[in-house]
Amino acid sequence: MTEIELIVDLHRNSERQGPGSEKETLKALDCMDLPKGRKLRIADIGCGSGGQTLTLAKRLDGEIVAVDLFSEFLDELNEKSGKLELKSKITTLQMSMHELTFAHEEFDIIWSEGSIYNVGFKNGITHWKDYLKNGGYLAVSEITWTTNSRPKEIDSFWKHEYPEIDMASNKIKILENSGYTLVGYFYLAQSSWIENYYKPLQARFKEFLERNNNSELARQVVDDHKFEIDLYLKFKDYFSYGFYIARKNE
Ligand code: SAH
Repeated sequence: MTEIELIVDLHRNSERQGPGSEKETLKALDCMDLPKGRKLRIADIGCGSGGQTLTLAKRLDGEIVAVDLFSEFLDELNEKSGKLELKSKITTLQMSMHELTFAHEEFDIIWSEGSIYNVGFKNGITHWKDYLKNGGYLAVSEITWTTNSRPKEIDSFWKHEYPEIDMASNKIKILENSGYTLVGYFYLAQSSWIENYYKPLQARFKEFLERNNNSELARQVVDDHKFEIDLYLKFKDYFSYGFYIARKNE
């Protein structure tokens, strides 16, 4: 297996592939004043195995197109939506978010938790706007500084990993300059990282290594994730995922 295949393998059979919670998904949804009396059309970009997709499907009357690059995650989502009798509300689509083929003003809502970094925040919100109806809503979570200064170690790490990392005020400015009006902002609780994401991830390390014959590359993948977790635990007061909810201007 290649490194990327191993990373996908490590993240299989889990509720989520990034930090988050049902409560926070619903909190973001509650910021939206959605049209009533007709079915909504929603895109969930970088849905993974669909933690947030299922939450949205339970709450909303409409159809969700759940997009991810990897069929492994989409297969899991299909299995879960079948068991929960939500299949009629969720259509999975294997596609890269670099090459989306949605129609002009197709969606009432574009959702993306812990994924927009793959195309970059500014690039993503600019391109995805075309797929949103006028007055439609965007909900994205994005790595964000939570304080205006921080230790050099974490500052350098993130500036190298993801140069677009910034404070919420600057991300909001980007949204406002790109034709959106902010309707809500909050950042994810530390429990959404630790209890909902990192602890279940750590609990999968042993079996992951066993099924991959403890290969050098598999050990490297685990070490990289351990490094990320340690860094989070050390510097968790300085960054989180900011959740940005915005309305496309008419
Ligand atoms: N929204 C999910 C998954 C977040 S992890 C959750 O919060 O649990 C990021 C997701 O983006 C992964 O599922 C990964 O497979 C997907 N991804 C990575 N690159 C992608 C791309 N180019 N196009 C579509 N999805 C991508």
